[in-house]
Amino acid sequence: MIPYGRQSISEADISAVIEVLKSDYLTQGPAVERFEDAVKEYVGSQHAVAFSSCTAALHAAAWASGLGPGDIVYTSPLTFIASANAARFVGATPGLIDVSPQTFNIDLTAIPSDASAIIPVHFAGLPVDLSLPDWGSNRPVIIEDAAHALGAQTPDGPVGNCKYSDMTCFSFHPVKPITTGEGGMVTTNDSDLAERLKRFRSHGIVRKSSGGGWFYEINELGYHYRMTDIQAALGSSQIQRIDDFIASRNNQALRYRELLKGLEGLQLPPEAPAGFTHGYHLFVIRVEDRRGLYDFMISCGIGVQVHYVPVHHHPISNDLRPSEKGWPHADSLYEQILSIPIHPALGEEELETVCLTVARFLEEQ
Ligand SMILES: *Cc1c(COP(=O)(O)O)cnc(C)c1O
Repeated sequence: MIPYGRQSISEADISAVIEVLKSDYLTQGPAVERFEDAVKEYVGSQHAVAFSSCTAALHAAAWASGLGPGDIVYTSPLTFIASANAARFVGATPGLIDVSPQTFNIDLTAIPSDASAIIPVHFAGLPVDLSLPDWGSNRPVIIEDAAHALGAQTPDGPVGNCKYSDMTCFSFHPVKPITTGEGGMVTTNDSDLAERLKRFRSHGIVRKSSGGGWFYEINELGYHYRMTDIQAALGSSQIQRIDDFIASRNNQALRYRELLKGLEGLQLPPEAPAGFTHGYHLFVIRVEDRRGLYDFMISCGIGVQVHYVPVHHHPISNDLRPSEKGWPHADSLYEQILSIPIHPALGEEELETVCLTVARFLEEQ
């Protein structure tokens, strides 16, 4: 099976992990801070706080923003459920803003006025242009879900520099741009938010040596959302390869565009506008008979996937902020989308096989 996404692990990555295994600290040691420093340097933010997953990172970011019951937090219908659950985790109400069929990202001109916060998702690695809205004095809290977008660039710098947002959350699951096995990170330029994120990650603990060397105090509910040093060492090694990974994903996207161009009944995914670099976490094609193509590709040993079953299709979404118009663009995209393999370990021959298989299916239609 050719997977739609997978990690790329080098000998240097393996050595970095082995080194930590032989060291004094498997967790709560120096490797986590080193990885945080590497991420904040790469994206150009003031702070970076590591978590056990992006889901934990989103929970922490929602909490650190002070969101809670009564707040409405809007995200995209075309995302993994964790983007919407971030609101639920803190007792806030999730809402959805439909995507634009031009970008598959939320339409920033359609943010309802009751938004306490928005969680824009950089779908497939294509950055949402957060410079566009003129919020005036009414800017909601902005938490970027950049699970797909480490390494993607905007005219104002890398995704994660938080130029137009409060916090940005990354995922290091093996199919994501870099991996730590499981893991996440929040970047921010606000030192108060950074402190809150760190407390939340570790049970709400505040150390107070005035009470004795051992003494600490808990004032708020926190969780155990820490990343281990083993994971962080892998992350520090992986992030040195991020620009190569993004270049390789962009080359593959280019090859797909060359080889799939002109196939009848097939639409290619949105391209990055001038000044942006696409992260190409996913390469999402559109066809009329998506179900047929999915089954055919799987039967040919090609691991395709659908990103995503829209948030509002899940039974848990009964608690969503209702929308009169619904989310028709997300619904119609969902009928047609299919993610075909793209990842640094994908070879040219495999990529050609994917294209030939898609073409064969469309010809037999
Ligand atoms: C993968 C993903 C997450 C969750 O990341 P984990 O690290 O698995 O918790 C959140 N949002 C989006 C858009 C994702 O793709």
